Amino acid sequence: MGLMDKHQRPLHDLRISITDRCNFRCTYCMPREHFGPDHAFLERDHLLTYEEIALVVESLMETGLRKVRITGGEPLLRKDVVRLIEMLRTIDANLDLAMTTNGVLLKRHAADLLKAGLNRVTVSLDAVDVDVFQTMADTTTHTPSDVLSGIDHALAVGLGVKVNAVIRRTLNVGQVIGLAEACTRRNVPLRFIEYMDVGNTNDWNLDEVVTGAELRSMVETEYGRLEAEQPNTPGEVARRYKTEDGHRFGFIESVSNPFCGDCSRARLSANGSLYTCLFSSSGHDLKGMLRMNASNDDVALAIRSIWEQRNDRYSVERRTLQASRTKVEMSFIGG
Ligand code: SAM
Ligand code: SF4
Ligand code: SF4
Repeated sequence: MGLMDKHQRPLHDLRISITDRCNFRCTYCMPREHFGPDHAFLERDHLLTYEEIALVVESLMETGLRKVRITGGEPLLRKDVVRLIEMLRTIDANLDLAMTTNGVLLKRHAADLLKAGLNRVTVSLDAVDVDVFQTMADTTTHTPSDVLSGIDHALAVGLGVKVNAVIRRTLNVGQVIGLAEACTRRNVPLRFIEYMDVGNTNDWNLDEVVTGAELRSMVETEYGRLEAEQPNTPGEVARRYKTEDGHRFGFIESVSNPFCGDCSRARLSANGSLYTCLFSSSGHDLKGMLRMNASNDDVALAIRSIWEQRNDRYSVERRTLQASRTKVEMSFIGG
């Protein structure tokens, strides 16, 4: 039997944060009070090199890895990211290679990313109205048009595109239909993510969470009945629906309808630690062994033993957990 954790979940999916830096300061992810001018971002030599990242991916192929998502921080801020995609594509022609990005630099990179072997991008877009967008992302520099133009470029060159939107009750619930229109017009699936209690800095509270059920009902009022679709694979995070006209919507209901039972995702932080859950308090350092010339087999063995001990089910246990614990920041391990 292949590699399984304590709940018989395989390791199929690796999310790799390649930088903890970002050109946005989304209120739910990197609030400026905590990620301001004095914040100490990782020094360059603390980041895993592309060669080190490729070695980790290569060593996981024999344990059943199927999908790699490059994320951050904002992954398109890291120099030569196209070279990393090329290196990962060389490892396996069938590996599903995706990237999550805020989209503002996508226009510049889309064609090269496709050429290097990237299959898909997930672009985060929380509002189509300029003021709401700039409030959510805490930016005065960028606008929804920058992101939409990145999406249009990605589509034009032939990358697969999905859009992710985090909805907060007091900030952007009025954007749900505008976002749906922008996506249906482009025939791009839109996935709504419930606002999550990741990290320790976003002052999360349950009243701010707009549930998947509420969002479905808003979409149904505008587009008619949503029909549930069967998952393509067991570990899929979004519950997918289709309208009669074929418009696709997904709902990532980490808070109201957790999916830990099938969670086959590991996360590699920008500084080379492996996290077995988005809500982990600490990771397992791989950088140390990588910098002592560990072989693929050494790394595979280390990850095997970490995964076999994995017992995480945070979202299922959220309601019963007593004190809130210290958790790793999303921008550090990637969404
Ligand atoms: N910067 C890129 C972006 O925004 O797409 C990639 C990294 S970002 C951490 C990955 C995803 O995490 C984004 O879709 C973002 O909306 C989501 N995210 C961040 N903080 C979140 C939170 N508190 N609740 C739900 N989703 C969150
Ligand atoms: Fe940056 Fe993405 Fe976090 Fe927004 S969600 S602050 S774009 S890393
Ligand atoms: Fe996976 Fe942890 Fe999220 Fe549950 S809470 S789905 S175990 S990342």
